[in-house]
Amino acid sequence: MTGPRIVPESTELTAAFWSAAAEGRILLQRCAGCELVWHPPAPVCPGCRGDVLEWFASSGRGTLYSYTRVEHAAHAAVADAVPYLVALVDLDEGPRVVTSLVGVDDASAVSALTARTRVTIELGPAAAGLQLPIARPSGPDADGSIDPAPPA
Ligand SMILES: [Zn+2]
Repeated sequence: MTGPRIVPESTELTAAFWSAAAEGRILLQRCAGCELVWHPPAPVCPGCRGDVLEWFASSGRGTLYSYTRVEHAAHAAVADAVPYLVALVDLDEGPRVVTSLVGVDDASAVSALTARTRVTIELGPAAAGLQLPIARPSGPDADGSIDPAPPA
């Protein structure tokens, strides 16, 4: 049985992120003072507490840090979704984010995942018309490298 959907709330702080996601872009925040990049959005820089922040488009690329396979629904809203994968992904821009991991449909694909698996971050439909970031294994970069570019 599936319960009510869990819908992220768009707030003054997150409105730019959700608006861009609706247009197919993933935005991140960066500090104009120290250039730290983070996600989720914050009102001040978590590094230097500076409040001059800018939004910029993510490359949509990252590296799998870790993942887990959820076998038991922790909420009725996801009861029909189990089992599913939840991942920690290090975005090429620096932040480590929590996301769903898709495109890993059988045991051999799951066993091939490593902490160096390159992923692309896509936007997928969620409840209430929102687009949520999801990760999908993508193989090596175009140059054959599996190592991410250092954060800018
Ligand atoms: Zn800063």
